[in-house]
Amino acid sequence: MLPWPKPRGGPHRSVCHFCDTLHLALALPEGTAARCVCCGAVLYQNRPASLVRATAFSITSLILMGVMHWFPFLVMDAASVRTTLNLSSAAMALIDQGNPILGAALALFMIVTPIALASGLIFVCGPLLFGRVAPGGIQVAKWLNKMEPWNMIEVFLLGVMVSLLKLGKVADVQFGLGFWAFGALMVCMAAAVASIDRDELWDRLEVASS
Ligand SMILES: [Zn+2]
Repeated sequence: MLPWPKPRGGPHRSVCHFCDTLHLALALPEGTAARCVCCGAVLYQNRPASLVRATAFSITSLILMGVMHWFPFLVMDAASVRTTLNLSSAAMALIDQGNPILGAALALFMIVTPIALASGLIFVCGPLLFGRVAPGGIQVAKWLNKMEPWNMIEVFLLGVMVSLLKLGKVADVQFGLGFWAFGALMVCMAAAVASIDRDELWDRLEVASS
């Protein structure tokens, strides 16, 4: 139940993002959060086993991505023809059928960004478990902050659901192993990103690199 290491010196301060009140940022026990004295908004949190969780959920996410891309996502039977679909073949089909922008967007937001986000978290949080910063780790952490909003796997689920409603009328649609891996991936990616507080990550990076 230790607070994460704050950089040497101080005092450390934290500003409320909602009402701009300046606070003295004290170290917190694990599993607790500091709140603004004026509006009650969360200032920063010390999440339990943050580095272990962020690394473990990111590794699991990468494994699930492998399963999702390797195994069929959907299996459709229509007019005695069986079609299997997975994510990369869907992106390629869109490009082949004259929708290169949509195909590229699908590949970028659904394949490249989640892989980069999970790999980046492992690259930054893994060495921090041993009190070290990987070469270029701070730069990667900056990129992770920028990349996070572009991880859109939840939006894709919504698209799949809408498509299934339409496809269900013309074909017999079954979920493949890739689909279930995708469901688990969504939960793991959200858990990986939510495992570590941003303030904690930057404080740990600063302490380990000094
Ligand atoms: Zn406030």
